[in-house]
Amino acid sequence: MSVPSSPAGAKRAPIRVLIADGDPVARAAYREVLLGTDMSGDTAVFHNLRDRLFSMAAQEREGLAASGSTTAFEPAFCGDAEDAVAAVREALAASRPFAVAYIALCMPGESDGLRAAAQIRELDPAIEIVVCVASQAVVAADVGSLVPPEEKLSYLRKPFHAAELRQMTISLASKWRAEHRIVRLAYFDVLTGLPNREQARTRLQSAMTAARQSGRALAVLYLDLDNFKRVNDTLGHGVGDQLLCKVASRLRHLLGADSSPPGAHIARLGGDEFIVILPAVGTSSEPGSVAARLIAGIQRPMRLGDHRVVVTPSVGIALYPADGADVDALLRNADLAMYFAKRKGPGTAHYFDPSMNTVAVQRFTLEARLRAALRTQAFALHYQPQFDVASGALTGLEALLRWTDEELGPVPPAEFIPVAEETGLVQPIGEWVLRTACGQARRWHDEGLPFVRMAVNVSGQQFVMPEFPALVTRILEESGVPPSMLELEITESVVMQDEERADRAIGELKALGVQLAIDDFGTGYSSLGRLSRFAVDRLKIDQSFIRRLHDCADDQAIAAAIIAMSRSLRIDVVAEGVESFQQLLFLQQHDCQSAQGFLFSRALPPSEVRALLQRAAGADGDSRTQRLRALIG
Ligand code: C2E
Ligand code: MG
Ligand code: MG
Repeated sequence: MSVPSSPAGAKRAPIRVLIADGDPVARAAYREVLLGTDMSGDTAVFHNLRDRLFSMAAQEREGLAASGSTTAFEPAFCGDAEDAVAAVREALAASRPFAVAYIALCMPGESDGLRAAAQIRELDPAIEIVVCVASQAVVAADVGSLVPPEEKLSYLRKPFHAAELRQMTISLASKWRAEHRIVRLAYFDVLTGLPNREQARTRLQSAMTAARQSGRALAVLYLDLDNFKRVNDTLGHGVGDQLLCKVASRLRHLLGADSSPPGAHIARLGGDEFIVILPAVGTSSEPGSVAARLIAGIQRPMRLGDHRVVVTPSVGIALYPADGADVDALLRNADLAMYFAKRKGPGTAHYFDPSMNTVAVQRFTLEARLRAALRTQAFALHYQPQFDVASGALTGLEALLRWTDEELGPVPPAEFIPVAEETGLVQPIGEWVLRTACGQARRWHDEGLPFVRMAVNVSGQQFVMPEFPALVTRILEESGVPPSMLELEITESVVMQDEERADRAIGELKALGVQLAIDDFGTGYSSLGRLSRFAVDRLKIDQSFIRRLHDCADDQAIAAAIIAMSRSLRIDVVAEGVESFQQLLFLQQHDCQSAQGFLFSRALPPSEVRALLQRAAGADGDSRTQRLRALIG
């Protein structure tokens, strides 16, 4: 009695086998063995050839067919090397990988069997490759080094026995089944099923080698989702995971088998970062259009459970060989370009260019020095006075951060504040500014100096922190400064980014009794009407308008309108960047309340401010001109 190899009805899925052989007779012979097709009606020529390939007697073939084996095969046949590589790629994309590939060493087409085997190995680290050789010419070690690892490589010499082929396929497939999962875990991302970082590097390496040999260019697209962290934080990691899977499937679809350019590799590097390798690009603009297509495809709204979510990717593009000679350099530069794309705005793409490295080095240096500055207290505050346009009285001081680094020298805020914002360092720095400015205000106030108001710049990041009002409260209490003496300056763009949130935050801060000013007004294109709903005390007209007052009629009209409308809304106006008497005259004619600028004074260190405040105390009864003269010196 024969014992069935598996329980009745529990037949295993057929073994997927790839046959790559340029000889049609050889392919037919494989088919006969694996599918049991009856070839008895074929010509004598065929039989001859087949016998040359397979040393199998007729009765053995019959025995094979009658064995009643439960093992079924699902072979796919390719006549040349390129087709074989494409078949493996498609099988992987369809999640129907081959277990075993028989590859004839000599094959027609641009690349031979050996190169095809190497490419197949890179695509699919789990596949069992059998190299079929017709002679003794090939030494195993040669192939082993090209198609590693050696333990997943076998040899079959023609002519071979039909039972040998069957048996080899069965035992390699069972080895493959056992290892497949482990290999997938090592080379593929568990969540999305895409190749992981490790595998992406291998594929990039081989794509670069192929590009070098063919003299073609290759592109790496580095994708990072712009608002993934927010989705993860607000909707939970479950939804975050679904989102990543959705992005992966959209990428697969957008770069599918029949899209152009063909042969793209997609991988997940980790977190919300993906890369796409375009192995052969025709023109340098092609990766840019692919990036645009990916951005458009990914940013379509997604339904994730009960949520409708929109995410945009930022894409950095690096080309080989122009932008990097090795895998590390190319990935690093694509990443850098992605970072610049992010800075340009969400959902944009950016090509790498070498100047980015200089900028990045500067930025990283700046970041490291800023961190050190926080530890060593290398910051200082200078204070720029604000004056009443009509009376010439000192109305306030704006605290402006100064940083002199021992290696870099003085670094202007316009250079380091953006870096502080990107790195989150603006939070501790901002806290230091607020505490120092309030402490200083308290000391001048205690000295009986005519101190009116201390304005402190608040970055967008501080302003949107739910804990910010509590921090302000704590610092006011610590310093003993009356809340009405403190004014917080927020830029117009921060308010307009999320009006509801701004409204809430402004309400909470106003409830503390502090004053609020909108800084750099006029640069964010918001209408005064929209701004009037916010409970702010002051608008600061951006210095770009004041600078152009005398060469641009439009800017005159805008400045005049801002002043007039603010008056009707009972919001005070401070003109920033006043440098000439002509500008001051214009402001006076239009009844602007306050002015600040180099005409009166630059931002001064505390000792000079103290002297200025003392002069202000002495100039109390003077006329406007006398007063200004006394103050400015
Ligand atoms: P801002 O708040 O609009 O500050 C006014 C800027 O204009 C200051 O530059 C000031 O020195 C400059 N300025 C004043 N009068 C004139 C003038 O008549 N002509 C010209 N050309 N410039 C004038 P600064 O100190 O370089 O600060 C630049 C920006 O950096 C500030 O613009 C503010 O946005 C930011 N910043 C400065 N300190 C801080 C801070 O402590 N925290 C935060 N978050 N940002 C700060
Ligand atoms: Mg300011
Ligand atoms: Mg300003």
